Amino acid sequence: MGFVRIPTQQLDAGLPFPGEIEPPRNALLRSLPADELARFMPLLERVPLVPRRVLQHAGLPIEHLFFIEDGLVSVLAKVDERSAAEVWLIGRDGVVGGTILLGGETSDLTHFVQIGGSAWRIGVEELHRVAPELPSLRDALKGYLHVSLMQSSQSAACSLRHALLPRLARWLLMAHDRSDMSGLPITQDLLARSLGVRRPTVSCAFKDLEAQGVFVKTRGMIRIVNRPRLERIACRCYSIMRTQRDKWEHSKAKRKLFVALSAFVAAIEAELLAS
Ligand SMILES: [Zn+2]
Repeated sequence: MGFVRIPTQQLDAGLPFPGEIEPPRNALLRSLPADELARFMPLLERVPLVPRRVLQHAGLPIEHLFFIEDGLVSVLAKVDERSAAEVWLIGRDGVVGGTILLGGETSDLTHFVQIGGSAWRIGVEELHRVAPELPSLRDALKGYLHVSLMQSSQSAACSLRHALLPRLARWLLMAHDRSDMSGLPITQDLLARSLGVRRPTVSCAFKDLEAQGVFVKTRGMIRIVNRPRLERIACRCYSIMRTQRDKWEHSKAKRKLFVALSAFVAAIEAELLAS
């Protein structure tokens, strides 16, 4: 699999950023309490994610973190000198480069843009400078890494034990969950790369799903029209991975509520003391 490094100047060009700071779509950023989000957002730069480009090369230093807003990024583990296999997917639920918080300075995995979009980017040095003052951000990143580890393990088990059709259904459901787009620009080449199979092999499974009416194709996009049926076709790995994510989402929401309540109680106490 050939990869192309993104020229720094292309990333540095950024995207137009109209007017006031817009609310992020990224789930990690949205989970932050309002005060941390207000502190953190001005430090971020909006950048485009160009399809079929590498955001982070394996073995190279992590220079930036990318909080994905739109699009999908495959995390790839090297299999041999010529190929790599997808171990998990990052969409607007996650971040590229978060392992920097675990102390590693380089990435062991390649992060490849499968579906283009945009992200909020911050330099590693800047992150290290502000992280001590943003406890909810640190917790959110560590929680995400924990979920990612479980998901990549399940994905590896899935590749070993399950047939292509249920794996393809699982992948489409995961892509749908993470992109939140009505139509996905998914090609059979992309599916072959993601599932680690040859294009003619994935083509048969793709046609099978299409014949079962779970999605429709229009102008290079596929739109899922029968999610319940797709969930029935998918292997059990999907529901396991979905449960893991739901538990994490629930704990994030609980923490955000706890922080908001603590701030509210502190404000009441300060007012009582002052009166
Ligand atoms: Zn599976």
